[in-house]
Amino acid sequence: MSRTVATLEISSNAFNEIADKLRAAGYNHLFMVDGSIDMYGIGLACAPKPTGPVCSCNSRSGPDYCEVHAA
Ligand SMILES: [Zn+2]
Repeated sequence: MSRTVATLEISSNAFNEIADKLRAAGYNHLFMVDGSIDMYGIGLACAPKPTGPVCSCNSRSGPDYCEVHAA
């Protein structure tokens, strides 16, 4: 790819969330040789606020408080 892209640095948590979703959707071709993602044509949207507690047990940010499974 010879097109030049601007780079927006984001947190590793945000990057991993985006990367996981793109890979799960079969967008592996968007990953560039340096590991960044060419998101041309893909818009980011803010998820609606969840109406109930959210399980964060499998959160990639590591062990943290889970609203659902707090002991
Ligand atoms: Zn949980």
